[in-house]
Amino acid sequence: MVERICSSCKRSNLRRSARHGFMETFVYSLFGMYPWRCRQCGIRTMLRDRGESRHGHRPTQASGRV
Ligand SMILES: [Zn+2]
Repeated sequence: MVERICSSCKRSNLRRSARHGFMETFVYSLFGMYPWRCRQCGIRTMLRDRGESRHGHRPTQASGRV
């Protein structure tokens, strides 16, 4: 499982945020990226992490390098 770290304060206190605007709705979603917001400092960051814990979710290995 990937730890979600804030790019600003380096804390793993992130929560999923809603997508806003064209970039996040279309462009980032193309790359499988999701918006997160830091509870600590309020910075929004895009991560390749959907965040929803689903049954049968497997960690993807080896194919992530672009
Ligand atoms: Zn932060």
